Amino acid sequence: MPEFIHARDIAAGTLLFAEGDPGDDAYIIESGLIEIAIGTGDTRKLIASLGPGEIVGEMALIANAPRSASALATVNTRLLVVRRGRLMKPIENADPVMRLMIQIIVERLSDASRWMSGTESSVPEAIQQARREAFGEVRDIALGRLRIERELRRAIETPQFELHYQPIVSMHDRSIAGYEALMRWNDPVKGQISPGNFIVLAEETGMIVEMGRWALKKALSDHAAMVRIWQRCWPGKKIPFVSINISSGQLIEPGEVARLSAIIVDSGVEPDQIKLEVTESLMIHDPESATSALLDLKALGVAFAIDDFGTGYSSLSYLHRFPIDTLKVDQSFVFNMLNDTTSGRLVRTILHMADDLGLETVAEGIETEAHFEKLCAFGCTYGQGFLMARPWPRFDLEAMLENGITW
Ligand code: C2E
Ligand code: CA
Ligand code: CA
Repeated sequence: MPEFIHARDIAAGTLLFAEGDPGDDAYIIESGLIEIAIGTGDTRKLIASLGPGEIVGEMALIANAPRSASALATVNTRLLVVRRGRLMKPIENADPVMRLMIQIIVERLSDASRWMSGTESSVPEAIQQARREAFGEVRDIALGRLRIERELRRAIETPQFELHYQPIVSMHDRSIAGYEALMRWNDPVKGQISPGNFIVLAEETGMIVEMGRWALKKALSDHAAMVRIWQRCWPGKKIPFVSINISSGQLIEPGEVARLSAIIVDSGVEPDQIKLEVTESLMIHDPESATSALLDLKALGVAFAIDDFGTGYSSLSYLHRFPIDTLKVDQSFVFNMLNDTTSGRLVRTILHMADDLGLETVAEGIETEAHFEKLCAFGCTYGQGFLMARPWPRFDLEAMLENGITW
């Protein structure tokens, strides 16, 4: 998802757009004043003065029509620019802010047409008030989004992000088979923020695309360093794989598969040591894009795991259509499997089915020996959880691996 909104400051006297210009963007006035006029020179006629919270040039968002009036900043003005390109996607998939904006624009247009056709001379105050409130809400959401986007961007540039690595062990001997890269945000003011609190925001603002690239690049360079240590300490032993989370929004972004492929190739890491974790939502919402993205990356030799399996759609029928190698059983089933027979049966069924389909399995969230034993009895391939190890900063994991590789 591209960023669709950003801030822009313009000085007093700047012409934002002229009558007849092609219109591509709309603007929300954050502070300042914009004068809307028709005609130029002696024939210039002022038709509106718009202040904070109002939209300028909104027609550009829904029609490829030239500007019907000019817009001039009369004082120093700060604008939120809303990019039209974002609206080219189907409206039902559009961002919630966009949906609200479109709703308001459509309402305004229908008012205008009613007004022009003479069926309504004035909009009742109550409706105007409701509209102002709705618009205030849109503006607050847009401003909130923008703030988060700025913070995430700063976090990438600084960088305030870090990857921790959680070992994934073979169930039969508890030796390390791989590790998952998990993002952490070290905010100088708020401290360490867990991904549960920022990944969704990153997905909503589209920043996940850049963050995902950063994570892939960083995880692969950390892995290359880890491999050197491994080969020195454990010569001849199979090198662990590195598992990296990829958001659905990231994979379906146009051109992103090529960028991710380039990162993988440039890293020099053997592709058969790389596992990408995707969620079921990718396959359900956009199976065509998902298939082509997965096949393109698969052609490089990387493996794919379905993360949080069982939580989303629990649809088993699509599995054979996608080039998947591993199922990760969601931790909620593992937590409940000993005291809730449904979860227990579900875990057993998923593991058996995966085995029938020739897929490897990872059980997440193993916190007790009892869980470990049961999953072992069910034939699970790998396990991941606090019982074995928590996610560790890279250097701690490396130090651990120099001393031993079983838990
Ligand atoms: P996930 O991919 O399902 O990752 C596993 C989560 O379970 C991690 O949470 C891990 O710390 C936690 N976990 C592992 N073992 C146990 C256990 O025994 N008990 C409990 N209670 N928890 C356990 P974390 O690190 O907070 O990450 C949360 C989610 O954020 C991840 O869930 C993943 O969906 C997302 N995420 C993390 N890093 C990235 C990233 O680089 N890119 C993307 N797109 N998403 C990420
Ligand atoms: Ca994961
Ligand atoms: Ca998971």
